[in-house]
Amino acid sequence: MTYTDATIPEIDQAMHQAAQDFYYYKNLSPAVRRQFMHAIASGLEANIEDLVATAMEETHLGYDRLKGEVARTCWQLRSYADAAFAGRHLDIRIDTALPDRKPAPRPDIRKMMVPLGPVVVFGSSNFPFAYSTAGGDTACALAAGCPVIVKAHPAHAETSEKVAKIISEAASANGLPKGVFAHIHGADFDIGGALVSHPLVKAVGFTGSTSGGKALFDLAAQRKEPIPVFSEMGSTNPVFLLPGKLKTSAKEVAKWYSGSITLSVGQFCTNPGLLLGVASAELTEFATELSKLMAQLPSAPMLHPGIAKAYAQKREAALSQKGVETLAVGVLPVNSDGSAAPVGGSGVAAEGIPTLAKTSGANFLANPLLHQEVFGPYSLLIECADLGEVKEVAAHLEGQLTSTLIATEADMLDHADLVALVQEHCGRIIFNGVPTGVEVVASMQHGGPYPATTDSRFTSVGEDGIRRFVRPVAFQNYPNALLPEALKNENAGGYWRLVNGEWSNKAI
Ligand code: NAP
Repeated sequence: MTYTDATIPEIDQAMHQAAQDFYYYKNLSPAVRRQFMHAIASGLEANIEDLVATAMEETHLGYDRLKGEVARTCWQLRSYADAAFAGRHLDIRIDTALPDRKPAPRPDIRKMMVPLGPVVVFGSSNFPFAYSTAGGDTACALAAGCPVIVKAHPAHAETSEKVAKIISEAASANGLPKGVFAHIHGADFDIGGALVSHPLVKAVGFTGSTSGGKALFDLAAQRKEPIPVFSEMGSTNPVFLLPGKLKTSAKEVAKWYSGSITLSVGQFCTNPGLLLGVASAELTEFATELSKLMAQLPSAPMLHPGIAKAYAQKREAALSQKGVETLAVGVLPVNSDGSAAPVGGSGVAAEGIPTLAKTSGANFLANPLLHQEVFGPYSLLIECADLGEVKEVAAHLEGQLTSTLIATEADMLDHADLVALVQEHCGRIIFNGVPTGVEVVASMQHGGPYPATTDSRFTSVGEDGIRRFVRPVAFQNYPNALLPEALKNENAGGYWRLVNGEWSNKAI
């Protein structure tokens, strides 16, 4: 099915509706808001087979992977709704009046977070459920009390349409006005631009490419009223292979990484795109084993022709750089009659070919092209002359979602300066594991210094993601009866509040 792009008057109407209904949704009882979000999750579960079948057709992702993604999406909706109901994102601070303070009395001041207003959400193609129409950004914004306008990803427009219908049904079943949720189709960048530029929008959640995220961020900064754009973008997720651990576990670590690099045809923002170690017998053992494993893995269809084309071009560009050696190429795609299918070059491979390449630390440092994300089942092994060079490479890396240390505890202590450097560049550090697989828990940090995201102070995974769509307001000397419920003396919701410097969930 094809969907026509929204027109500018349609966008304008959706924005006015969202702005008008914002006040209703903002002031809605937290219990009803939670019920609405739980109803979306139940709606997704009730339609799971149809949703997964549609997404399989549109994305080439497998049944189990997509079914798991719907489950994750439902968990996000319910857990973020519950977190907001508990008021954890409200960050309540109360300092009661001190009328007798000298030399001047202190007024009563009470602060809490309030929703920002209508939020535009751009989903990514590689998570048709968990980072799309009813995905993490939508769940966070709805939990915060903000209406949401989703721009459907054209690579899974029908899946998006079906999910949007479930959200709208959950809204009307809970008596919510139309403006709480809108769904816009748009395969043209101008539609995205018009959404971000609209004066009634107060924030943007984006998951996707660095070029897309930065373009929308720049557009928002140029508005008459600049607004925050929370872009979660690309990352090369460096893996530091330290000598002590590699000595005992080179083959085992190679096995972890053949799986991680090629999981979902490498189409994860946490895909390990750079592997760094010091030239040694152990690093050679690791490289030999990883090459052997990756050479046995099949090529597989990528999400959509645009991503496959970008992978073919970026992969070829990287492999053709001076000083880059191809260590392993997976099983090449074949046509249905068994003949070899065309790949790469001027032709566009619709399939992602597992690929491992190698270069020296000096060559990597000298060639910025090698620092870029190659989105797909690709990784570059950087063989450094010594640990000093590993540190130099680490110091020159851009901001990352994750960094991984393959190390013993003694390695970590021996190379504490490298470990400290690694922490400066990323949002999550993994000790002896793989970066793929992001737990949806309150302690998760999915975000990092630019260009991994446009605001490293926030996460897009876990309930703290709600904080992106709120802002603080302080009420000074307000009559108790007129304060928002969460700030009243009675504290009927039992919220945890910092009252005169002490945490309390009691009445004042
Ligand atoms: P994408 O091409 O950037 O698309 C994301 C959305 O943004 C689409 O709706 C797209 O519309 C729109 N868009 C992109 N550039 C735009 C522009 N200049 N103006 C207006 N709208 C624009 O990303 P993708 O292909 O879906 O996803 C792959 C990338 O996402 C990878 O780089 C991956 O690392 C990253 N990713 C990051 C995370 C994270 O959490 N950090 C998670 C998943 C994926 P059109 O399709 O119409 O172009």
